[in-house]
Amino acid sequence: MTAKILDGNRIGAEIRAELTAEVNQLCANGLRPGLAAVLVGHDPASEVYVRSKVRASEQIGIFSEKITPPSSISTEDLLEIVYALNRRDDIDGILVQLPLPKHIDAKKILLAVDPAKDVDGFHPMNVGLLSTMRPGLVPCTPSGCMEILRRSGIQVEGSEAIVVGRSDIVGKPIAMLLTNANATVTICHSRTRDLTEVCRRADILIAAIGKPAMILPEMVRPGATVIDVGINRVTDRQIFDRLFAGDSAREKQFAEKGSILVGDVHPKVAEVAGAISPVPGGVGPLTIAMLMSNTIKAAKMRRGAAKSARSLTA
Ligand code: NAP
Repeated sequence: MTAKILDGNRIGAEIRAELTAEVNQLCANGLRPGLAAVLVGHDPASEVYVRSKVRASEQIGIFSEKITPPSSISTEDLLEIVYALNRRDDIDGILVQLPLPKHIDAKKILLAVDPAKDVDGFHPMNVGLLSTMRPGLVPCTPSGCMEILRRSGIQVEGSEAIVVGRSDIVGKPIAMLLTNANATVTICHSRTRDLTEVCRRADILIAAIGKPAMILPEMVRPGATVIDVGINRVTDRQIFDRLFAGDSAREKQFAEKGSILVGDVHPKVAEVAGAISPVPGGVGPLTIAMLMSNTIKAAKMRRGAAKSARSLTA
């Protein structure tokens, strides 16, 4: 069997087109959603991520602002920046790019973000809203995984879903979303016994581990749907050869760049699975699309209600 490819680029473009139409409509009613990205210091990967988030916002008509304090900033001064953004009415979404420098108390900073503007969905208030199935802001990568499943017509309700990884930002919220969508969910982690046997039960297998190609074909039930969240940069020639020997397109890329992106799922799983999200071009493109979606949702929840209440009384 060769798996159906769940094309994140196509689904991401579809969502962005819908969001552009929604932003146009909101702007016509005098509400332009606004996103503030706080980037501390000059971490090269973070700079790339923030640049693409700001660019994506502008492309769909969201107002965006980048705030770039130096890496020497103190926790107290960074808190003041967050408090100031919390107070601004034109800012609906605040994202503080992680990782923060080691001397900064990251938990304190994330807790200071107004939950109504927490477009990353990391605040405990939003975690609680998700787990009690109330409206709130849901972490972007997990909701991107759900969009891939939904828009690809994969049946979630009643399915057996196995999530490998239990981080607060990926594994746990995906497990919660799948539970809320009526899947029967098992969460696995580094101490799980018989991981292969557990994974083989899955109708839907989510890999959010951070280990290149760890999910092997024998861990996947033939026909299962596999969502590969992992993004690992492989620079080691031996690992590359083990995974992609004979793949001329990837060979060329590795030779040119000296590295290649690999998911948590072994490429040969595509020969067993029924459907699979590729890396790159799977979950990745959805993460930014869902950030845009959260910013619009935050704007509507915060200002949309107030605005319509005002227009009713006007
Ligand atoms: P993380 O915080 O490091 O969590 C990794 C999880 O995997 C942990 O729960 C860990 O278990 C588990 N794990 C590690 N080794 C394992 C093993 N041998 N067997 C079973 N479980 C194992 O990572 P994360 O932030 O969730 O990210 C996971 C991956 O997703 C990374 O590759 C990251 O780059 C990628 N990611 C992608 C996107 C996107 O936009 N596509 C967004 C975010 C993250 P313990 O809890 O027991 O340690």
